[in-house]
Amino acid sequence: MVEKLDPKFAYWHGIERTKISWYPTVDEEKCIGCKLCFVSCGRNVFDFDFQRNKAVVAKAYNCLVGCSTCATICPVNAISFPEKDLVQKIEREEKVLSKIKNKAKEKKLKLDLEKIRKKVLDTLANSKIKMEYELVGHALEKKFMEKVHDRIKDCKVDIIDIKIESSSLRGCWDFKAPSIVKFSLVSTKMEDISDYITEIDKVIGECGMIIVKKT
Ligand code: SF4
Ligand code: SF4
Repeated sequence: MVEKLDPKFAYWHGIERTKISWYPTVDEEKCIGCKLCFVSCGRNVFDFDFQRNKAVVAKAYNCLVGCSTCATICPVNAISFPEKDLVQKIEREEKVLSKIKNKAKEKKLKLDLEKIRKKVLDTLANSKIKMEYELVGHALEKKFMEKVHDRIKDCKVDIIDIKIESSSLRGCWDFKAPSIVKFSLVSTKMEDISDYITEIDKVIGECGMIIVKKT
């Protein structure tokens, strides 16, 4: 029966995989059925015949060209491969080295981008770029929002989603009724706002506001 090729492994640097006879051969006389090759190969090259207690090469062309790990780990040397010259000869004939130059550049670029992406994600994960506040106090009387604005006007942050809930203007002014103030402090540059949080907290303290929620 012709082996059904796994499309992922159908080519090796542009060469049809079936044209490269690099795959393991199991010597059944030697195989003791330890199953190490069967469970270790990440490309499912091996199947295992439990009735006969033997490893079987089921998907030969899934084998990674040049790899011989299973032969190395087989405790009884029951697995063999062609000579390594075979791969080197194909490399020369098919000019594999010149083909992989661009691939190497692409891979390097991909790795560098991945590093940058990880760094950005780490920075974002460890940074605070938004802080939601809910406060109670005499915000209007103490000109709280004005003072907050003074503190942040030249910074890379802004205050958004502002809500001031007061029962009435006279209630605030004449009878000193407190207001509920909600807003979010956000970075306008996707940068850490920890220092600005400290500044806003100072204004909150100066105005005698009470923090109900800060998330
Ligand atoms: S590792 Fe060797 S002995 Fe063990 S099952 Fe595979 S071929 Fe057989
Ligand atoms: S050489 Fe590597 S890829 Fe090929 S069968 Fe063995 S373990 Fe699997």
